[in-house]
Amino acid sequence: MVRDEQYGELGKRFEEHLLAGIPALQRAGYNPTDFLRMIKTQGAVRTAKTLLASARHTSYGFATLWEKNRLDASVEFAVCLPWFRELFTGEELDRAEFRLTEHHFDLKRISTVAAPDWYAAPVPEQWDRARTGARTAEHPGEQPQPAPGPTYRQRVEAEEAAQRHRAATNPALRTEAARSNVFRALVLERAGGRCENPRCGHPGFHAIGRNERPIVEVDHVHGLKDGGPDHPVNMVVLCPNCHAVKTRGRDSEVADLRLLLAGIARGKHEAAMGVA
Ligand SMILES: [Zn+2]
Repeated sequence: MVRDEQYGELGKRFEEHLLAGIPALQRAGYNPTDFLRMIKTQGAVRTAKTLLASARHTSYGFATLWEKNRLDASVEFAVCLPWFRELFTGEELDRAEFRLTEHHFDLKRISTVAAPDWYAAPVPEQWDRARTGARTAEHPGEQPQPAPGPTYRQRVEAEEAAQRHRAATNPALRTEAARSNVFRALVLERAGGRCENPRCGHPGFHAIGRNERPIVEVDHVHGLKDGGPDHPVNMVVLCPNCHAVKTRGRDSEVADLRLLLAGIARGKHEAAMGVA
């Protein structure tokens, strides 16, 4: 078994993160020997992917951690941390979140973990930030202004640079990372978690899912398999109904909707980038 060197610096940090949590588990009376052996032979990222792919994940004590009320020390929790998410596919992230929520773990605890120093792009959820912003505006001067995070433009440019770097250093990784979780998060924020179809039949729809996020879907206006780019300029947020119409609707309607959404995606992207 080859260790997962292809995940680069972030992969190493993920491994350090998992290993750093082991002593606390041992103190709590749980010695994850199988898990450690897997990390040693496969590397941490591949270990996590293996465990997420297995329906029963018997090699690792998820149940033990649950019994000890320490799911915050689980691989699933680590996978969901914002700074590690790009190592994993959307499906792997969904599985990790599902396992945690299935065991009544409050996913909001993820946002309480302090970001490590090396993580340049903390991503506060748009809806939280909107609330904070509204409060500050009502009572100017009463609250300290939160330190401004990186802008949309800075985050787009950082992700583009990271992708160029990854593609140059490791072409094999390109297919696996075809969908950027960073871009996905940016587009969700840009839309405020709402459907962006101006003809949406359910404009008031903003149900919240069990992961405490709005139930909406990120759509590539021009599909990836048709050569559309995985880039915010080609991505919109749609409610489940509009997404179904776009992917399964009548040809004429889909073509019309695609044209409309292409303009929305480009317009919103350029506005957020500060392009005049
Ligand atoms: Zn809609």
